Amino acid sequence: MTSAMFHYDDEMADLIFAACRERLSMDPVSLDFGGLVESLHSELAGLMRPEGNDAAAVLKLFIDKLATAVVSCDSPRFLSFIPAAPTKASLLFDMFVSCSSLHGTSWLEAAGVVVAENQALDVLAAQAGLPEGAGGCFVAGGSAGNLSALMVARDTAAHRRHAEAPIRPLVAISEDAHSSVGKALHVLGVGTLTVPTADHRLTGEALRVALRDDPRRDDVIAVVATAGTTNAGIVDDLAGVADVAADHSLWFHIDGAYGGAAALFAPSVQARFTGFERADSFIVDPHKWLFAPFDCAALIYRQPNLAKAVHTQDAHYLEVLHSENPEEWNPSDYAFHLTRRARGLPLWFSMAVNGLDAYRDAVEAGLSMAQRAAERIAASPHVELVRDPGLSIVLFRRPGWRKEDYDVWSARLLHDQVGFVTPTSWEGETVARFAFLHPNTTVEMIDEMLASMA
Ligand SMILES: *Cc1c(COP(=O)(O)O)cnc(C)c1O
Repeated sequence: MTSAMFHYDDEMADLIFAACRERLSMDPVSLDFGGLVESLHSELAGLMRPEGNDAAAVLKLFIDKLATAVVSCDSPRFLSFIPAAPTKASLLFDMFVSCSSLHGTSWLEAAGVVVAENQALDVLAAQAGLPEGAGGCFVAGGSAGNLSALMVARDTAAHRRHAEAPIRPLVAISEDAHSSVGKALHVLGVGTLTVPTADHRLTGEALRVALRDDPRRDDVIAVVATAGTTNAGIVDDLAGVADVAADHSLWFHIDGAYGGAAALFAPSVQARFTGFERADSFIVDPHKWLFAPFDCAALIYRQPNLAKAVHTQDAHYLEVLHSENPEEWNPSDYAFHLTRRARGLPLWFSMAVNGLDAYRDAVEAGLSMAQRAAERIAASPHVELVRDPGLSIVLFRRPGWRKEDYDVWSARLLHDQVGFVTPTSWEGETVARFAFLHPNTTVEMIDEMLASMA
């Protein structure tokens, strides 16, 4: 006799599908709160017991008590950190991926998944201007993508330089590189050469000077440029950095986790990204500004065979996965992972259904929202812009406020369900920050938030 938990239960399916339908049809979703307003210890107590519980009761407990204690990052009023705005098509298909137990580890097991994911990756690589033959895989996030790419950078340099390979290699980064880059280098046992920048933007010139003046210059094997810093949306001088990388035979990695979406899809800011097409590797997070559900980051290499040489996992039980046929692509060969969710499929489905023009328009909407917010700030006497918007991020201040004032204001906005806007720090000063991404954020919402600072 098989356990009931493997039998299809029509009632439970209806229950869950109804909950999904309700959530999907909310327009907009409610912002809700972070943190628990009351202790739930007593309600959760005893839930994990030998005989199980009624599905409807557990679902109700989650929806009534736990889901409300999560700030909805897909609310158009969520303007903190980097928000999310997954398309309806991508959310629905994600559900199908779950129901089908689809995974995308190897060609042998999941060729149908791999060709679809690779079609989506091909679109991203082509939009970025990389040559045909570029490819990679989807990973869980930008952090995993940076780690996997820099591992290839390190090992490729060791291979190419043979006896001259540095004992402790270094990667050149700017102070504004994302924290995940520093963490990745730490994991890899690779040091950093921190390049000073003017106005937080890594330039080719600054990199050239740093390499000239630093006695450790010969140990530098790669450079990481950021295409859209998370805090301020600043795009490094990609073309200049690419030139210096070429002159010094450095691996050129671009962290476009956030801003890569604009590089790939927004004609209005194309000029800022000149040089993107020269990357040896880059990442862009579809779970940020390409409207896919969590968790989904794209990792793309100019020469995927270099990544394959580094990441392929060898084990007796895996030998059957490896073939000589280049068509037979194993996503597991291109990052630090083995078993993997088919996390590129929701993006693939949504791009196929909605078309690429819709992606261009949705990314452009975030950019123009930032411009409009900047205009409202400039027109409001009680607040001022800290700097011009960087991509879809706007930094502004309320003169006279200290950190405590911003914290109180931020908490009140959330309490009143007006918005989720957390302060950041900029050059030592606490300031307010809007990160736009959801195409349904409106100027009225911004006006309401600005008015609350008067
Ligand atoms: C968000 C972000 C990361 C990290 O990506 P995760 O998906 O959160 O792991 C790395 N770099 C930049 C520039 C980012 O904005």
